[in-house]
Amino acid sequence: MPLKIYNTMSGVVEEFIPGGDKKERIADYPTVNMYSCGPTVYSYAHIGNFRTFIFNDLFRRYLKFRGFTVNHAMNITDVDDKTISGALAENVSLKEYTDKYIGIFFDDLRTLNIEPVEHTPRATESIDAMIDLVERLDAKGIVYEKDGSRYFSIKKFGEYGKLSRLDSREIRSGLRYDTDEYEKDDIRDFALWKAGKENEPSWDTPFGKGRPGWHIECSAMVRKVFGTTIDIHTGGVDLIFPHHENEIAQSEAAYGEKFVRYWVHAEHLLVDGSKMSKSKGNFYTLRDLLDKGYSPRAIRYLLVTAHYRKQLNFTLEGLLQAGQALQRIDNLLLRLREITGNSDENLVVKTNSDDFIKKFIESMDDDLNASRGLGIFFEYLHSINSLLDEGRIAKVDAERVFCVLKRIDSVFGFIFFPEETDAGIDAERIEALIDERNRSRREKNFKRSDEIRDILLDEGIVLEDTKDGTRWKKKK
Ligand code: AMP
Ligand code: ZN
Repeated sequence: MPLKIYNTMSGVVEEFIPGGDKKERIADYPTVNMYSCGPTVYSYAHIGNFRTFIFNDLFRRYLKFRGFTVNHAMNITDVDDKTISGALAENVSLKEYTDKYIGIFFDDLRTLNIEPVEHTPRATESIDAMIDLVERLDAKGIVYEKDGSRYFSIKKFGEYGKLSRLDSREIRSGLRYDTDEYEKDDIRDFALWKAGKENEPSWDTPFGKGRPGWHIECSAMVRKVFGTTIDIHTGGVDLIFPHHENEIAQSEAAYGEKFVRYWVHAEHLLVDGSKMSKSKGNFYTLRDLLDKGYSPRAIRYLLVTAHYRKQLNFTLEGLLQAGQALQRIDNLLLRLREITGNSDENLVVKTNSDDFIKKFIESMDDDLNASRGLGIFFEYLHSINSLLDEGRIAKVDAERVFCVLKRIDSVFGFIFFPEETDAGIDAERIEALIDERNRSRREKNFKRSDEIRDILLDEGIVLEDTKDGTRWKKKK
């Protein structure tokens, strides 16, 4: 059975075919190009945000588990109204201000055992790509100017609304008037480039001094990183409209090709029935919860195992239950570790294990149904516990179960949760990046070698070049 995923664009669960051409075997597919909208780094992210980031992580881990190769980018929005006003309020540069929150964000990802992605472009480092995009749109007559800002004219893109399937009346009423955007011809139009204001960071461009609108950065970065149609674009459901609708308009109008094959959106984390958000004040940051004594492992468990297309009501009680479920897992691990002796293999363990893996794949192939996958996982643990009670598990069987659990944990990421200090550190990957950096330097590709240093630095890994080669260590 192939992997199927709900595509917001078609509104149905579809077979996942990266590259667009169906192949016989997964190994024959090209690398999966995946892009996720990342954080705006003006403050601590809340665990609603992390529900979406953990979903991205589950998706990429499952793709790899199934044998796909994944090339994944997540942007960092480090210039917008909130980051600018935050930096002004603290009287520091925008870079100093956002660097702090970028560091905190990557620390939080590590704490939640979220795998690092291959690219984390920052908006302020992608200005050239944005200028190129605005110029292309301008050449096609889609851009107009008002008070020094550049706007995208929706009426020039006939397919506007195809993702959210809103008619133009709904689009109008759904839009809040953005006071930051000056006069527009049509309320639905959105700013590509905002005229510079005093006291605000701005960049020189062929169309004047200013700063990017929000939507342009994702279109520009997708182009910059992947150069062509991508397979998967993810984000929370709140981004479907207008953000993703605007990304499609910009990219498809500028480049004349399909932007994204599969649009995949994660549902919200709620508190007492309403969306967890900064503006409502009903949020917990990761650190709030850790300070209260909850474990990052329980938070990951809770967020990974709810189906991504169902809203999840967050409660502290839910976290406690997650902790209890983890305790049951740990008890089993402990019992398995205590097995000694050389008795013969029990074939029931093999049958149960094979059966479990098969059912797990069936659940996850069905639109990443992790909650069903979790149910099947506990049935499996139950069967192993019963065999343990009956004294029917030999050391070889225990080893088999460990192998199975390790495989499953490459997806779940909460069974063998890394010690806090090492969470998310993948030494093999770091070594591979260091090799690539050394190669790039030998080939005088300093752009790539610097980029690799920055990627690792963002993840809290510092490189030290010594006469014996390059060493890495965790930033203190
Ligand atoms: P932001 O930093 O506000 O741009 O949001 C980062 C990501 O978190 C986006 O993909 C949002 O869709 C997502 N997000 C925001 N609030 C929630 C929530 N309550 N539940 C799930 N995802 C959310
Ligand atoms: Zn985006």
